Amino acid sequence: MNHEDKLDRLAQVAVHVGLGLARGQELVMTSPLEAAPLARRITEHAYKAGASFVTTLFTDDESTLLRFRYAPDESFDCAPGWLYDGIAAAFRSGAARLAITGADPALLANEDPAKVGRANLATSKAYRPALELITRHEINWTIVACATAAWARRVFPDQPECAAIGRLWEAIFAASRCDQPDPVSAWRKHDAQLRERADRMNAKRYAALHFQAPGTDLTVGLADDHRWMGGGTRAGNGIDCIPNLPTEEIFTTPHKDRVEGTVRSTKPLSYQGALIENIAVRFEEGRVVQANASNGEATLQRMLDSDEGARRLGEVALVPHSSPIASSGLLFWNTLFDENAASHIALGQAYSTCIQNGDALTPEELSKRGANESLIHVDWMIGSKTMNIDGITSQGTAEPLMRNGDWI
Ligand code: ZN
Ligand code: ZN
Repeated sequence: MNHEDKLDRLAQVAVHVGLGLARGQELVMTSPLEAAPLARRITEHAYKAGASFVTTLFTDDESTLLRFRYAPDESFDCAPGWLYDGIAAAFRSGAARLAITGADPALLANEDPAKVGRANLATSKAYRPALELITRHEINWTIVACATAAWARRVFPDQPECAAIGRLWEAIFAASRCDQPDPVSAWRKHDAQLRERADRMNAKRYAALHFQAPGTDLTVGLADDHRWMGGGTRAGNGIDCIPNLPTEEIFTTPHKDRVEGTVRSTKPLSYQGALIENIAVRFEEGRVVQANASNGEATLQRMLDSDEGARRLGEVALVPHSSPIASSGLLFWNTLFDENAASHIALGQAYSTCIQNGDALTPEELSKRGANESLIHVDWMIGSKTMNIDGITSQGTAEPLMRNGDWI
């Protein structure tokens, strides 16, 4: 099978498995300029599936850098509110959302972290109404990846650019199951397995999880009425979608006030264009009280200062070390991939869908159950082949869940 065939399969998987796009539904897509060939194939399959209208918003890394080079200082507190309001309006009127990821993970690494932080905060505020519809799963949405030159150079620094792009594409196709004879049915099978694992955790009703690894001794209390999820989800509009392609995780909502101990990251985090490496954090009563990083610490501190909820957890996710993405041994410098190679936690906004009946609850009711609220949601990886995880019952008994990074 040649590259074009695999690209076509990825587009089909994105439209039919990731989005579950319905006839007559509108689609709003964001895409790096370099991903135009994939965006066009997705557009083709969306219209073949009956899309009423496909709008693609292209982003360009070079133009982003020009802003940091030449825009007036005060403009870094601005964001195009009209655009984000428009996106939110499209979602409210029934549009689906697809994001193609693939931008340079270190695009803004050499820019002033204060400017990067202000720009991100302004964007987060403007995007909030649209993002809420996504985090509440009111609409069907998904994210897929496209190999770009800058990203490929980062993953395969020793290879010529052309070879690096080729290898990154192969890794994306494998992780997205597009190298298999029937990717759509392979996804259905994988989805069923993830749901079954989530069901098993739901039956246990653990009060907390205990993570142990070198540099990590962390107890994460789970939210009252928490619900484990994995694989696909039924969106509020009644459509079944798989929000991330690839996905290997089962995840739930931690209790924002019941996280204690220390934790160390096991992979670098690419946070909106800047890299943060070797994060070490200490929690007390759910709140980050100490945070260090060997690289990008200023960016980390700014992220933690985004708002009060940025210092508390909004997600905990379990991923076995034997997942296909982990087995590839690659560091992708991209959360969509790296978070599916390792167990992880996220600072910031919780998913209300991970609370029983959560979509019907008010923000106050969600907060009472322990669900965190924030402008940010940032996943970072804590799992490794040396990690042990126990489930702690409400009686305080520890039951082994993972040993040396894998389910037992
Ligand atoms: Zn996750
Ligand atoms: Zn997350």
